[in-house]
Amino acid sequence: MTRHPLKVTSLARTLTKTHVNKQRMDKLTPQQRHKTMASIRSKDTKPEMVVRRWLWGHGYRYRLNHPRLPGHPDLVLRKYRTCIFVNGCFWHGHEGCQSYTIPKTNTDFWVNKITRNRERDARVQRELAAMGWHSITVWECELKPKNREKTMESLAFTLNKIFLQDHNAKRYIIPEQQPMMAAEPNPRNEVKNNPQAHLTKEEEV
Ligand SMILES: [Zn+2]
Repeated sequence: MTRHPLKVTSLARTLTKTHVNKQRMDKLTPQQRHKTMASIRSKDTKPEMVVRRWLWGHGYRYRLNHPRLPGHPDLVLRKYRTCIFVNGCFWHGHEGCQSYTIPKTNTDFWVNKITRNRERDARVQRELAAMGWHSITVWECELKPKNREKTMESLAFTLNKIFLQDHNAKRYIIPEQQPMMAAEPNPRNEVKNNPQAHLTKEEEV
């Protein structure tokens, strides 16, 4: 008497499970299904990956999400003393961008949230600048397929310009300043002419 109900229960459970799974799949609206598929693909297509792949392919080397730098920049290029932030246009409030449209409901909530994000971004970049780092923001909309190559070429141009500026500055200033500093050491000059001189060891990457 007890064997039959058990068997049936077990079979019924299997059937129900399959049935429920099928139902759950069928319950997805086309939008939900699109979202599910998009989240599966997003690992390779997200804007940060576009920047990373391009830079790597063009010989630029970087470190990801540096833990000791303010704001944990997405990419850190030590050779260029540059941090790159790849920002979503909505979350970081890309001014004048079509993707930055405040929703009509809960408007105050969104305005406050995005204002806070923007304030934090600005603060992080000020902190990095004080430590002698350049910050470059690449916006998501600038990485759409039709804009991508132009954006990345201009990013590479900016990086190379930064590199040349930093290195020219050192080449011209240091030989001129050395004799003077030997005769009359002036720590203020030293810091002024060598922006990295005031960095502590911990700040060096
Ligand atoms: Zn944008």
